[in-house]
Amino acid sequence: MNKVANYLQEHISGEVMTTPSVRRYFSTDGGVFEVMPSLVVYPKNANDVRKITRFTWQLAEKGHVLPITARGRGSDQAGAAIGSGIVMVFPAHMNKLLEFDTKQRLARVQPGVNYRTFQDAVQTHGYFLPPYPSSIDFATLGGAIANNSAGEKTVKYGATRKYVQSLEVVLANGELIQTERLNKRELNKKKGQTNFEGEIYRQLDNLITDNWELLQNHTAHPEVSKNSAGYAIIDVKQKDGSFDLTPLLVGSQGTLGIVTEAIFRLEPYNPRTTLFAVYFSDLDRANQAVLQLLALEPSALEMVDSHLLEFITRINPNRLKGLVDPPYPAIVLLAEFDDAGENKRKAKTKRAEQIIGQYSERYARTEDFEEQQQLWAIRHSAAAVITHVEGNSKALPIIEDGVVPRNRFPEFITQIYALFEKYRLRVALWGHAGDANLHLQPFLDLSKIGDRQKVFKLMDEYYAMVLEMGGSTCGEHNDGRLRAPYLPKVYGDEMYQIFRDIKRIFDPYNTLNPGVKIDVTKELIAPLLRQEYSMDHLYDHLPRM
Ligand SMILES: Cc1cc2nc3c(=O)[nH]c(=O)nc-3n(C[C@H](O)[C@H](O)[C@H](O)COP(=O)(O)OP(=O)(O)OC[C@H]3O[C@@H](n4cnc5c(N)ncnc54)[C@H](O)[C@@H]3O)c2cc1C
Repeated sequence: MNKVANYLQEHISGEVMTTPSVRRYFSTDGGVFEVMPSLVVYPKNANDVRKITRFTWQLAEKGHVLPITARGRGSDQAGAAIGSGIVMVFPAHMNKLLEFDTKQRLARVQPGVNYRTFQDAVQTHGYFLPPYPSSIDFATLGGAIANNSAGEKTVKYGATRKYVQSLEVVLANGELIQTERLNKRELNKKKGQTNFEGEIYRQLDNLITDNWELLQNHTAHPEVSKNSAGYAIIDVKQKDGSFDLTPLLVGSQGTLGIVTEAIFRLEPYNPRTTLFAVYFSDLDRANQAVLQLLALEPSALEMVDSHLLEFITRINPNRLKGLVDPPYPAIVLLAEFDDAGENKRKAKTKRAEQIIGQYSERYARTEDFEEQQQLWAIRHSAAAVITHVEGNSKALPIIEDGVVPRNRFPEFITQIYALFEKYRLRVALWGHAGDANLHLQPFLDLSKIGDRQKVFKLMDEYYAMVLEMGGSTCGEHNDGRLRAPYLPKVYGDEMYQIFRDIKRIFDPYNTLNPGVKIDVTKELIAPLLRQEYSMDHLYDHLPRM
């Protein structure tokens, strides 16, 4: 063990590891990059987190920057859960559901709680956390907060930010703060504090006041229905003068503070839903149906394209047999309605059936749970792309999360097909039709120079296309390292400068997850590209007591 590791092990109650195999394991996440940490820590409690951050702050004051990267399950696809200094792994110990107030629909949790375990627990009481990602089985709640994760229910319920009521956060210097919405008087009290927290409130309020007009100007933000790019500074101060750091910290990927507890607001869960599987031969007609169905507030409006269905059939001919058979429709849409009131749901179902009947070739509708699970298998079969290997080629998460304004959706799909045609790559699309947010992962071999060059060419062309349509580079997976170089183009230089100021205010020594979100260039990330992509890191690698 090195000197730093020895010092930390003496002062914290969790474990400190420097074993090469452990460091190697935590050198990758769900993305295409690799960064070897100098040590790995499994904190037992917030006090451990405070001691470690206070230590790195003191080191930084003396000119030595030792970065800290918080980590949940490491499923991040944009390289945000890796770092060169201390990787702080939360699922090992800080994995408890601390309190659940069913009357107020609030749950207090530690960041390392597994999302699926949490969802199962609250669902038995009739509630759920709607913005769950499709990585729900392995992701943690801390990772979902830090990424502002979203998923199939976001079209109706919104993304994670909407459900985080308050946070307990360790700041870069080790101070522990609680965040929640403050009124003007409470804000002034915070601003009067002489500690680092007071400094943050003062500087951030000044930053917002100085840039109020720009922040309110809608052209400074992409006009999309979901967006994880940048910092959500717009949500901090409201017109009534109230002020909340919570929405800013949600989606900040551990670059502004480390979450040690969170309080979530939950929604009532209704398992009795109506599900349509709708088959379209034409993109524009599918989009017409999507735009009209949106008015009925579906709880999911998901899609796969014909190429995904062909791919699945090629690698597993029986998987979708009977559910959807060749010749494949251009688009299969899954539209779900979860309204608790039986009459309301019936009325919506009737109207949805008219819309669907007008635009589609055919459709299936069911209220039966088992039949619904079978239909959902069409959408969830996309997981097979991610785990499939074609020779040495793997489905790389490099352009896996673009989102455009809803009216540009058909054009978005057509242009993606043209891009893949140009690079002679096999295409398969799936995602959130209701949000015009698509997922796609091209098969490339990272051991081949030609394919490694294609990674950056594809990214440049794809993100330029998304931005040209007024979209955002990420609807849900966030900037990380991967998309951070494009962030100035998503918001423009003035907004980007505000993001840089935010980072400086919270993290003056750049110890919190540096190399993620802010001040990242393609030149910085290119050398980090892995030689081989795999998802091995998702196997459990936590200490056993
Ligand atoms: C197959 C697959 C499907 C996916 N589907 C979706 C999807 O539908 N929607 C979606 O949004 N994402 C999706 N993702 C991306 C990712 O799984 C989610 O964003 C997930 O919420 C991340 O959780 P995690 O525990 O793995 O976080 P990690 O990957 O460990 O970390 C993610 C980020 O959170 C930060 N972080 C973690 N814990 C803390 C903490 N305590 N304090 C501060 N920062 C912290 C990390 O530093 C990092 O920046 C998918 C990934 C895969 C591999």
